Amino acid sequence: MTGLNAYSLERAEQLSSQWKGTSFLGGNAKNFIDGAFKDSSTDKWIELYDPSTQTLLSKVPETTTEEFESAVEAASKAFQSWKNSSVLKRQRFALELQALIRENMDNLAAAIVLEQGKTFADAKGDVLRGLQVVETACAIPTALMGEKLEVSKDMDTETRKVPLGVCASISPFNFPAMIPLWTIPLAIVTGNTLILKPSERDPGAALMIAELCQRAGLPDGVLNVVHGTVPTVNAICTHPKIKAVSFVGSNRAGQHIYDLATKNGKRVQANLGAKNHAVVMPDANKDQALNALIGAACGAAGQRCMAISVVVLVGTAQKFLPDLIERASKLKVSQGFEEGAEFGPVTTPAAKARIEGLIASAEKEGGKILLDGRGIQVPGYPDGNFIGATIIEASTEMTCYKEEIFGPVLIVMNANTLDEAISTVNSNPYGNGAAIFTQSGPIARKFETQIEAGQIGINVPIPASFLGDINFYGKGGISFYTQIKTTTSLWRSADANVDGEGVSVNMPTMK
Ligand code: NAD
Repeated sequence: MTGLNAYSLERAEQLSSQWKGTSFLGGNAKNFIDGAFKDSSTDKWIELYDPSTQTLLSKVPETTTEEFESAVEAASKAFQSWKNSSVLKRQRFALELQALIRENMDNLAAAIVLEQGKTFADAKGDVLRGLQVVETACAIPTALMGEKLEVSKDMDTETRKVPLGVCASISPFNFPAMIPLWTIPLAIVTGNTLILKPSERDPGAALMIAELCQRAGLPDGVLNVVHGTVPTVNAICTHPKIKAVSFVGSNRAGQHIYDLATKNGKRVQANLGAKNHAVVMPDANKDQALNALIGAACGAAGQRCMAISVVVLVGTAQKFLPDLIERASKLKVSQGFEEGAEFGPVTTPAAKARIEGLIASAEKEGGKILLDGRGIQVPGYPDGNFIGATIIEASTEMTCYKEEIFGPVLIVMNANTLDEAISTVNSNPYGNGAAIFTQSGPIARKFETQIEAGQIGINVPIPASFLGDINFYGKGGISFYTQIKTTTSLWRSADANVDGEGVSVNMPTMK
């Protein structure tokens, strides 16, 4: 083992000494319950290694049942006062939090590089995208505005958005700051309290964000952070005091969580795995299309839900292929702090083996590996989970097409016509996002209307999928975290008499 490089070690030491919740030098990640960062008393620890060198960074507990109960208790107790806090107080929290996140952007990004492996620039993007949700939450006084209607003479119906209670949020490893920040700000400014379970593979950034929430003035118990895997997740999905569950992650876990939590009467929002397609037409702006494709396929080592993992080249757009391969082959793969690194390692050796296995399956099933990223040697990092950019010519019945690869692998397919490309995209079971690259308005319009995917990109790669009724951020987020309360009141104008003399409009004088 080579150990952390000098710069990573310096950052790991600095972060470990300055932040209460976790360590990047082999110590423990802590539970954050009722305003305190405390070591878990569990005997089950998950070791977390730097994906570039396999150096032990921290140990993440499987939070015990008692600790989980105390987190729910703290959140339930805090809800009683937090729900009655003024909306301006909650807005103040969001304003302070956004300033603190900006101030600590580099620290959060450094924690992400260490634990998750993405490049420093990409890690800052991770924080920034989360920060945008905090900024949206600053508009909460307007977003929570109610409505009032006089439904009949002297009778008003008033609608208010009130919080749900204790909510929970379960996040994946690929965006350690952004995804916790999809839920923390909106759950809290709407008056709920929250239990967050970050990914057991990189909870550092979430613990730092929890500390920033505390510094932003958040009362104890409003946000709690617990850790672990299936047992903690199942406890969340079945606890009677938890009213709503937000999940982002893979299909398998998501389906289980959706079923279990809804069966237990909870409101659930779940964003799942993806297989996003891009269709490239012969009239596309070649430079723009190829750069967008390579960025969306290989950025963050392909570990993005909005990654483009399949490209369908239509007709003469097939002649773009040599250039696509050439450009992808030039991407620089290295440790996230290294100068010029365009993407880093994948999360774990197991993920690397899985991705390499899917590439090998393409070979076995008759696909053609046009660019092979397996076995890539990254100078200075012989033990890293690196896979170089990979391009495979495959067809829809192959395993590499059917499964989400979640690595820097782009599947290429050909189609003779736009109709054929649309039919390929529409037959894939994920059916979530699709993009088209073309200079033709009519072609873009046809694609937009005929594609059954929920999210369409025109000359831009696209985001991903969700299960459930309501989206995470924006107006959808506010609706998810609130319920409507209506009050109908009758104040008869005929009863507006003041006993005695009635209303006097004369200048008051001493009698
Ligand atoms: P994952 O499903 O393995 O883990 C997500 C969370 O669920 C973690 O907190 C984990 O502890 C928990 N979990 C894992 N397996 C579980 C199980 N069997 N039962 C209960 N809980 C379980 O996902 P991941 O590997 O961390 O993240 C990558 C996945 O997330 C990809 O599929 C990606 O497409 C998806 N993703 C989707 C979006 C989106 O917006 N649609 C965004 C980011 C990531």
